[in-house]
Amino acid sequence: MEEQEEEFKKRLIEALNIEINNCKKCDLWKTRNKPLVGDGSINAEIMIVGESPGYYEDLQGKAFVGEAGKILDELLDLVNLERKDIYITNVLKCHPPRNHNPNRQEVYSCIGYLYKQIDIIKPRIIITLGKFASKEVFNKFNLEFTRISELHGRVYEVKTFFGNIKIIPLYHPAVACYHNEMLRVLKEDFKKLKSILNN
Ligand code: SF4
Repeated sequence: MEEQEEEFKKRLIEALNIEINNCKKCDLWKTRNKPLVGDGSINAEIMIVGESPGYYEDLQGKAFVGEAGKILDELLDLVNLERKDIYITNVLKCHPPRNHNPNRQEVYSCIGYLYKQIDIIKPRIIITLGKFASKEVFNKFNLEFTRISELHGRVYEVKTFFGNIKIIPLYHPAVACYHNEMLRVLKEDFKKLKSILNN
């Protein structure tokens, strides 16, 4: 990537970080410690989108630090990727107390930040984790979302202003913390990433 383009991206993301850190568009700013804007490389070809920061992510300002994070690392390892090779973010940038399901007002207020991140980072592949994140990303690209149990592991190709990209909805790694069978499904789905990357 051209040096100038990288520098431009960096500046746009820095400006977005400042905006999010000062954001009061919904009530979650009142209880958050640290908004989690995104983690990883802004030059990554793969973007991973989750639902919202959890309790520990909120304290540390880092993505996927708990048990679900260990599972994510295991999945990345399967396809020889590390955190530094990807960019991780969420639909909501602030932690919802007691991990409540994001409500429409919170989503409506925050979703524009995710859309901007996608447009700035220009990933080749977006992996959406869980029903909630998948639904919101599908909305952006005018894809019809039904059920995660039906769509997980499928690969959707969509057109964007920066070229064709692939969207892959997966189960959220948190479900694999409690259901071993889900870990097997997640691993099978994740392996598809390998062949896409090789191509
Ligand atoms: S969740 Fe999003 S919209 Fe709400 S305060 Fe945080 S950054 Fe702003």
